Amino acid sequence: MRTVTIFGATGSIGENTVDLIARAPEQYRVVALTGGRNVARLAEQAILLNAELAVTAFDDCFADLKAALAGTGIEVAAGSAAIVEAADRHADLFMSAIVGAAGLPPGLRALRHGTTLALANKESLVTAGPYLLAEAARYGATILPVDSEHSAVFQALVGEDMQTVERVIITASGGAFRDWPMEKLARATIEQASSHPNWDMGQRITIDSASMFNKAMELIETKEFFGFKPSQIETVVHPESLIHALVGFNDGALMAHLGPPDMRHAIGYALHWPERGHVPVERLDLVKIASLNFRPADEARYPALRIARDVMQTGGLAGAAFNAAKEAALDAFIAGQIGFLDMARLVDEVLNRLQGQNGLSCDILSLDKVLETDHLAREMTQEFVQVTAAR
Ligand code: NDP
Repeated sequence: MRTVTIFGATGSIGENTVDLIARAPEQYRVVALTGGRNVARLAEQAILLNAELAVTAFDDCFADLKAALAGTGIEVAAGSAAIVEAADRHADLFMSAIVGAAGLPPGLRALRHGTTLALANKESLVTAGPYLLAEAARYGATILPVDSEHSAVFQALVGEDMQTVERVIITASGGAFRDWPMEKLARATIEQASSHPNWDMGQRITIDSASMFNKAMELIETKEFFGFKPSQIETVVHPESLIHALVGFNDGALMAHLGPPDMRHAIGYALHWPERGHVPVERLDLVKIASLNFRPADEARYPALRIARDVMQTGGLAGAAFNAAKEAALDAFIAGQIGFLDMARLVDEVLNRLQGQNGLSCDILSLDKVLETDHLAREMTQEFVQVTAAR
């Protein structure tokens, strides 16, 4: 029996993890579940999985969570510090599925206990990848990728010598606007950007798919997690989203990982690792699928991809600045303050300004530097948003 804690249990990745665990109660014991404002669902999950502890990130949600779990014997806590403290209770595997930079501290604490961290939270690797990996190595911890593309690369690399890898291809669906004429993009609305052709995800990540900022994050994650050079990492648009990634070797072989667009596949792989176990996802019918299509990922249509290359080249704190500027620009787009194409323009401007002012390419020696850069980049993006909105 494996012990598991889920950070961000009430979100999309969290719910999929809960689903898999609930189907095999004899295989797992749940230590802690954490959530945010959706305390009703957090309480339901804690009862369903018989968790030891349920934690909400927000102090003002404590009373509701406590009331919902009264008489169950399940412990209750609140606040971001309590989420980090949940990592001090031993679990064989921690699922890191909080959205945003808030996911970094609890994951880091779990790594410092030398345990296994199944990492869905993209921001951890993008903002502080080298630091996170160094801490994992220092404490003998294991990080397993849960993003479908990185799980695919990880699986294709099992038993392979990294020196034989020539290139990695990360596929992209192309998002909501892949077939739109370029001149229409500037007028794209929030509603139009919020519908994904293949995956059912939250609004923020769906808009990030339309702009390809999501793919840009994944390119940076690929470099940080696997240690590939930026020149080895490619992107191709694959509208069916059935191949998640491919790894090319020095004998010309290209190993592709296929699976349905269902996050339970990558989550299940992490839960069973290092073995494979049954995962109840749809089995692909190749004859029914009949054909798989590929198109170039056009950097004129998707400037986020070019920005990701710059970030990978710069390294250091560029990822933290990139993530913060991207989040602030996305907030402004969702609030109706800026247009769809303004997001990439603003992120680019912030990165250029910060690189000129502070220099971003330095070693990350502590989280403080990351948080400071995050703060600066958000403030600067907001300034640029005001200027854009006033035009
Ligand atoms: P969701 O927005 O669906 O869920 C986020 C979770 O984090 C919820 O449990 C939410 O609680 C909780 N949360 C929100 N704010 C805070 C906070 N300040 N402190 C602590 N917890 C908080 O996100 P997803 O599941 O879609 O994504 C999670 C992470 O995984 C992201 O980094 C995303 O990029 C990545 N990812 C997601 C994929 C997907 O298919 N969705 C695919 C690959 C990676 P509540 O809802 O109760 O408020």
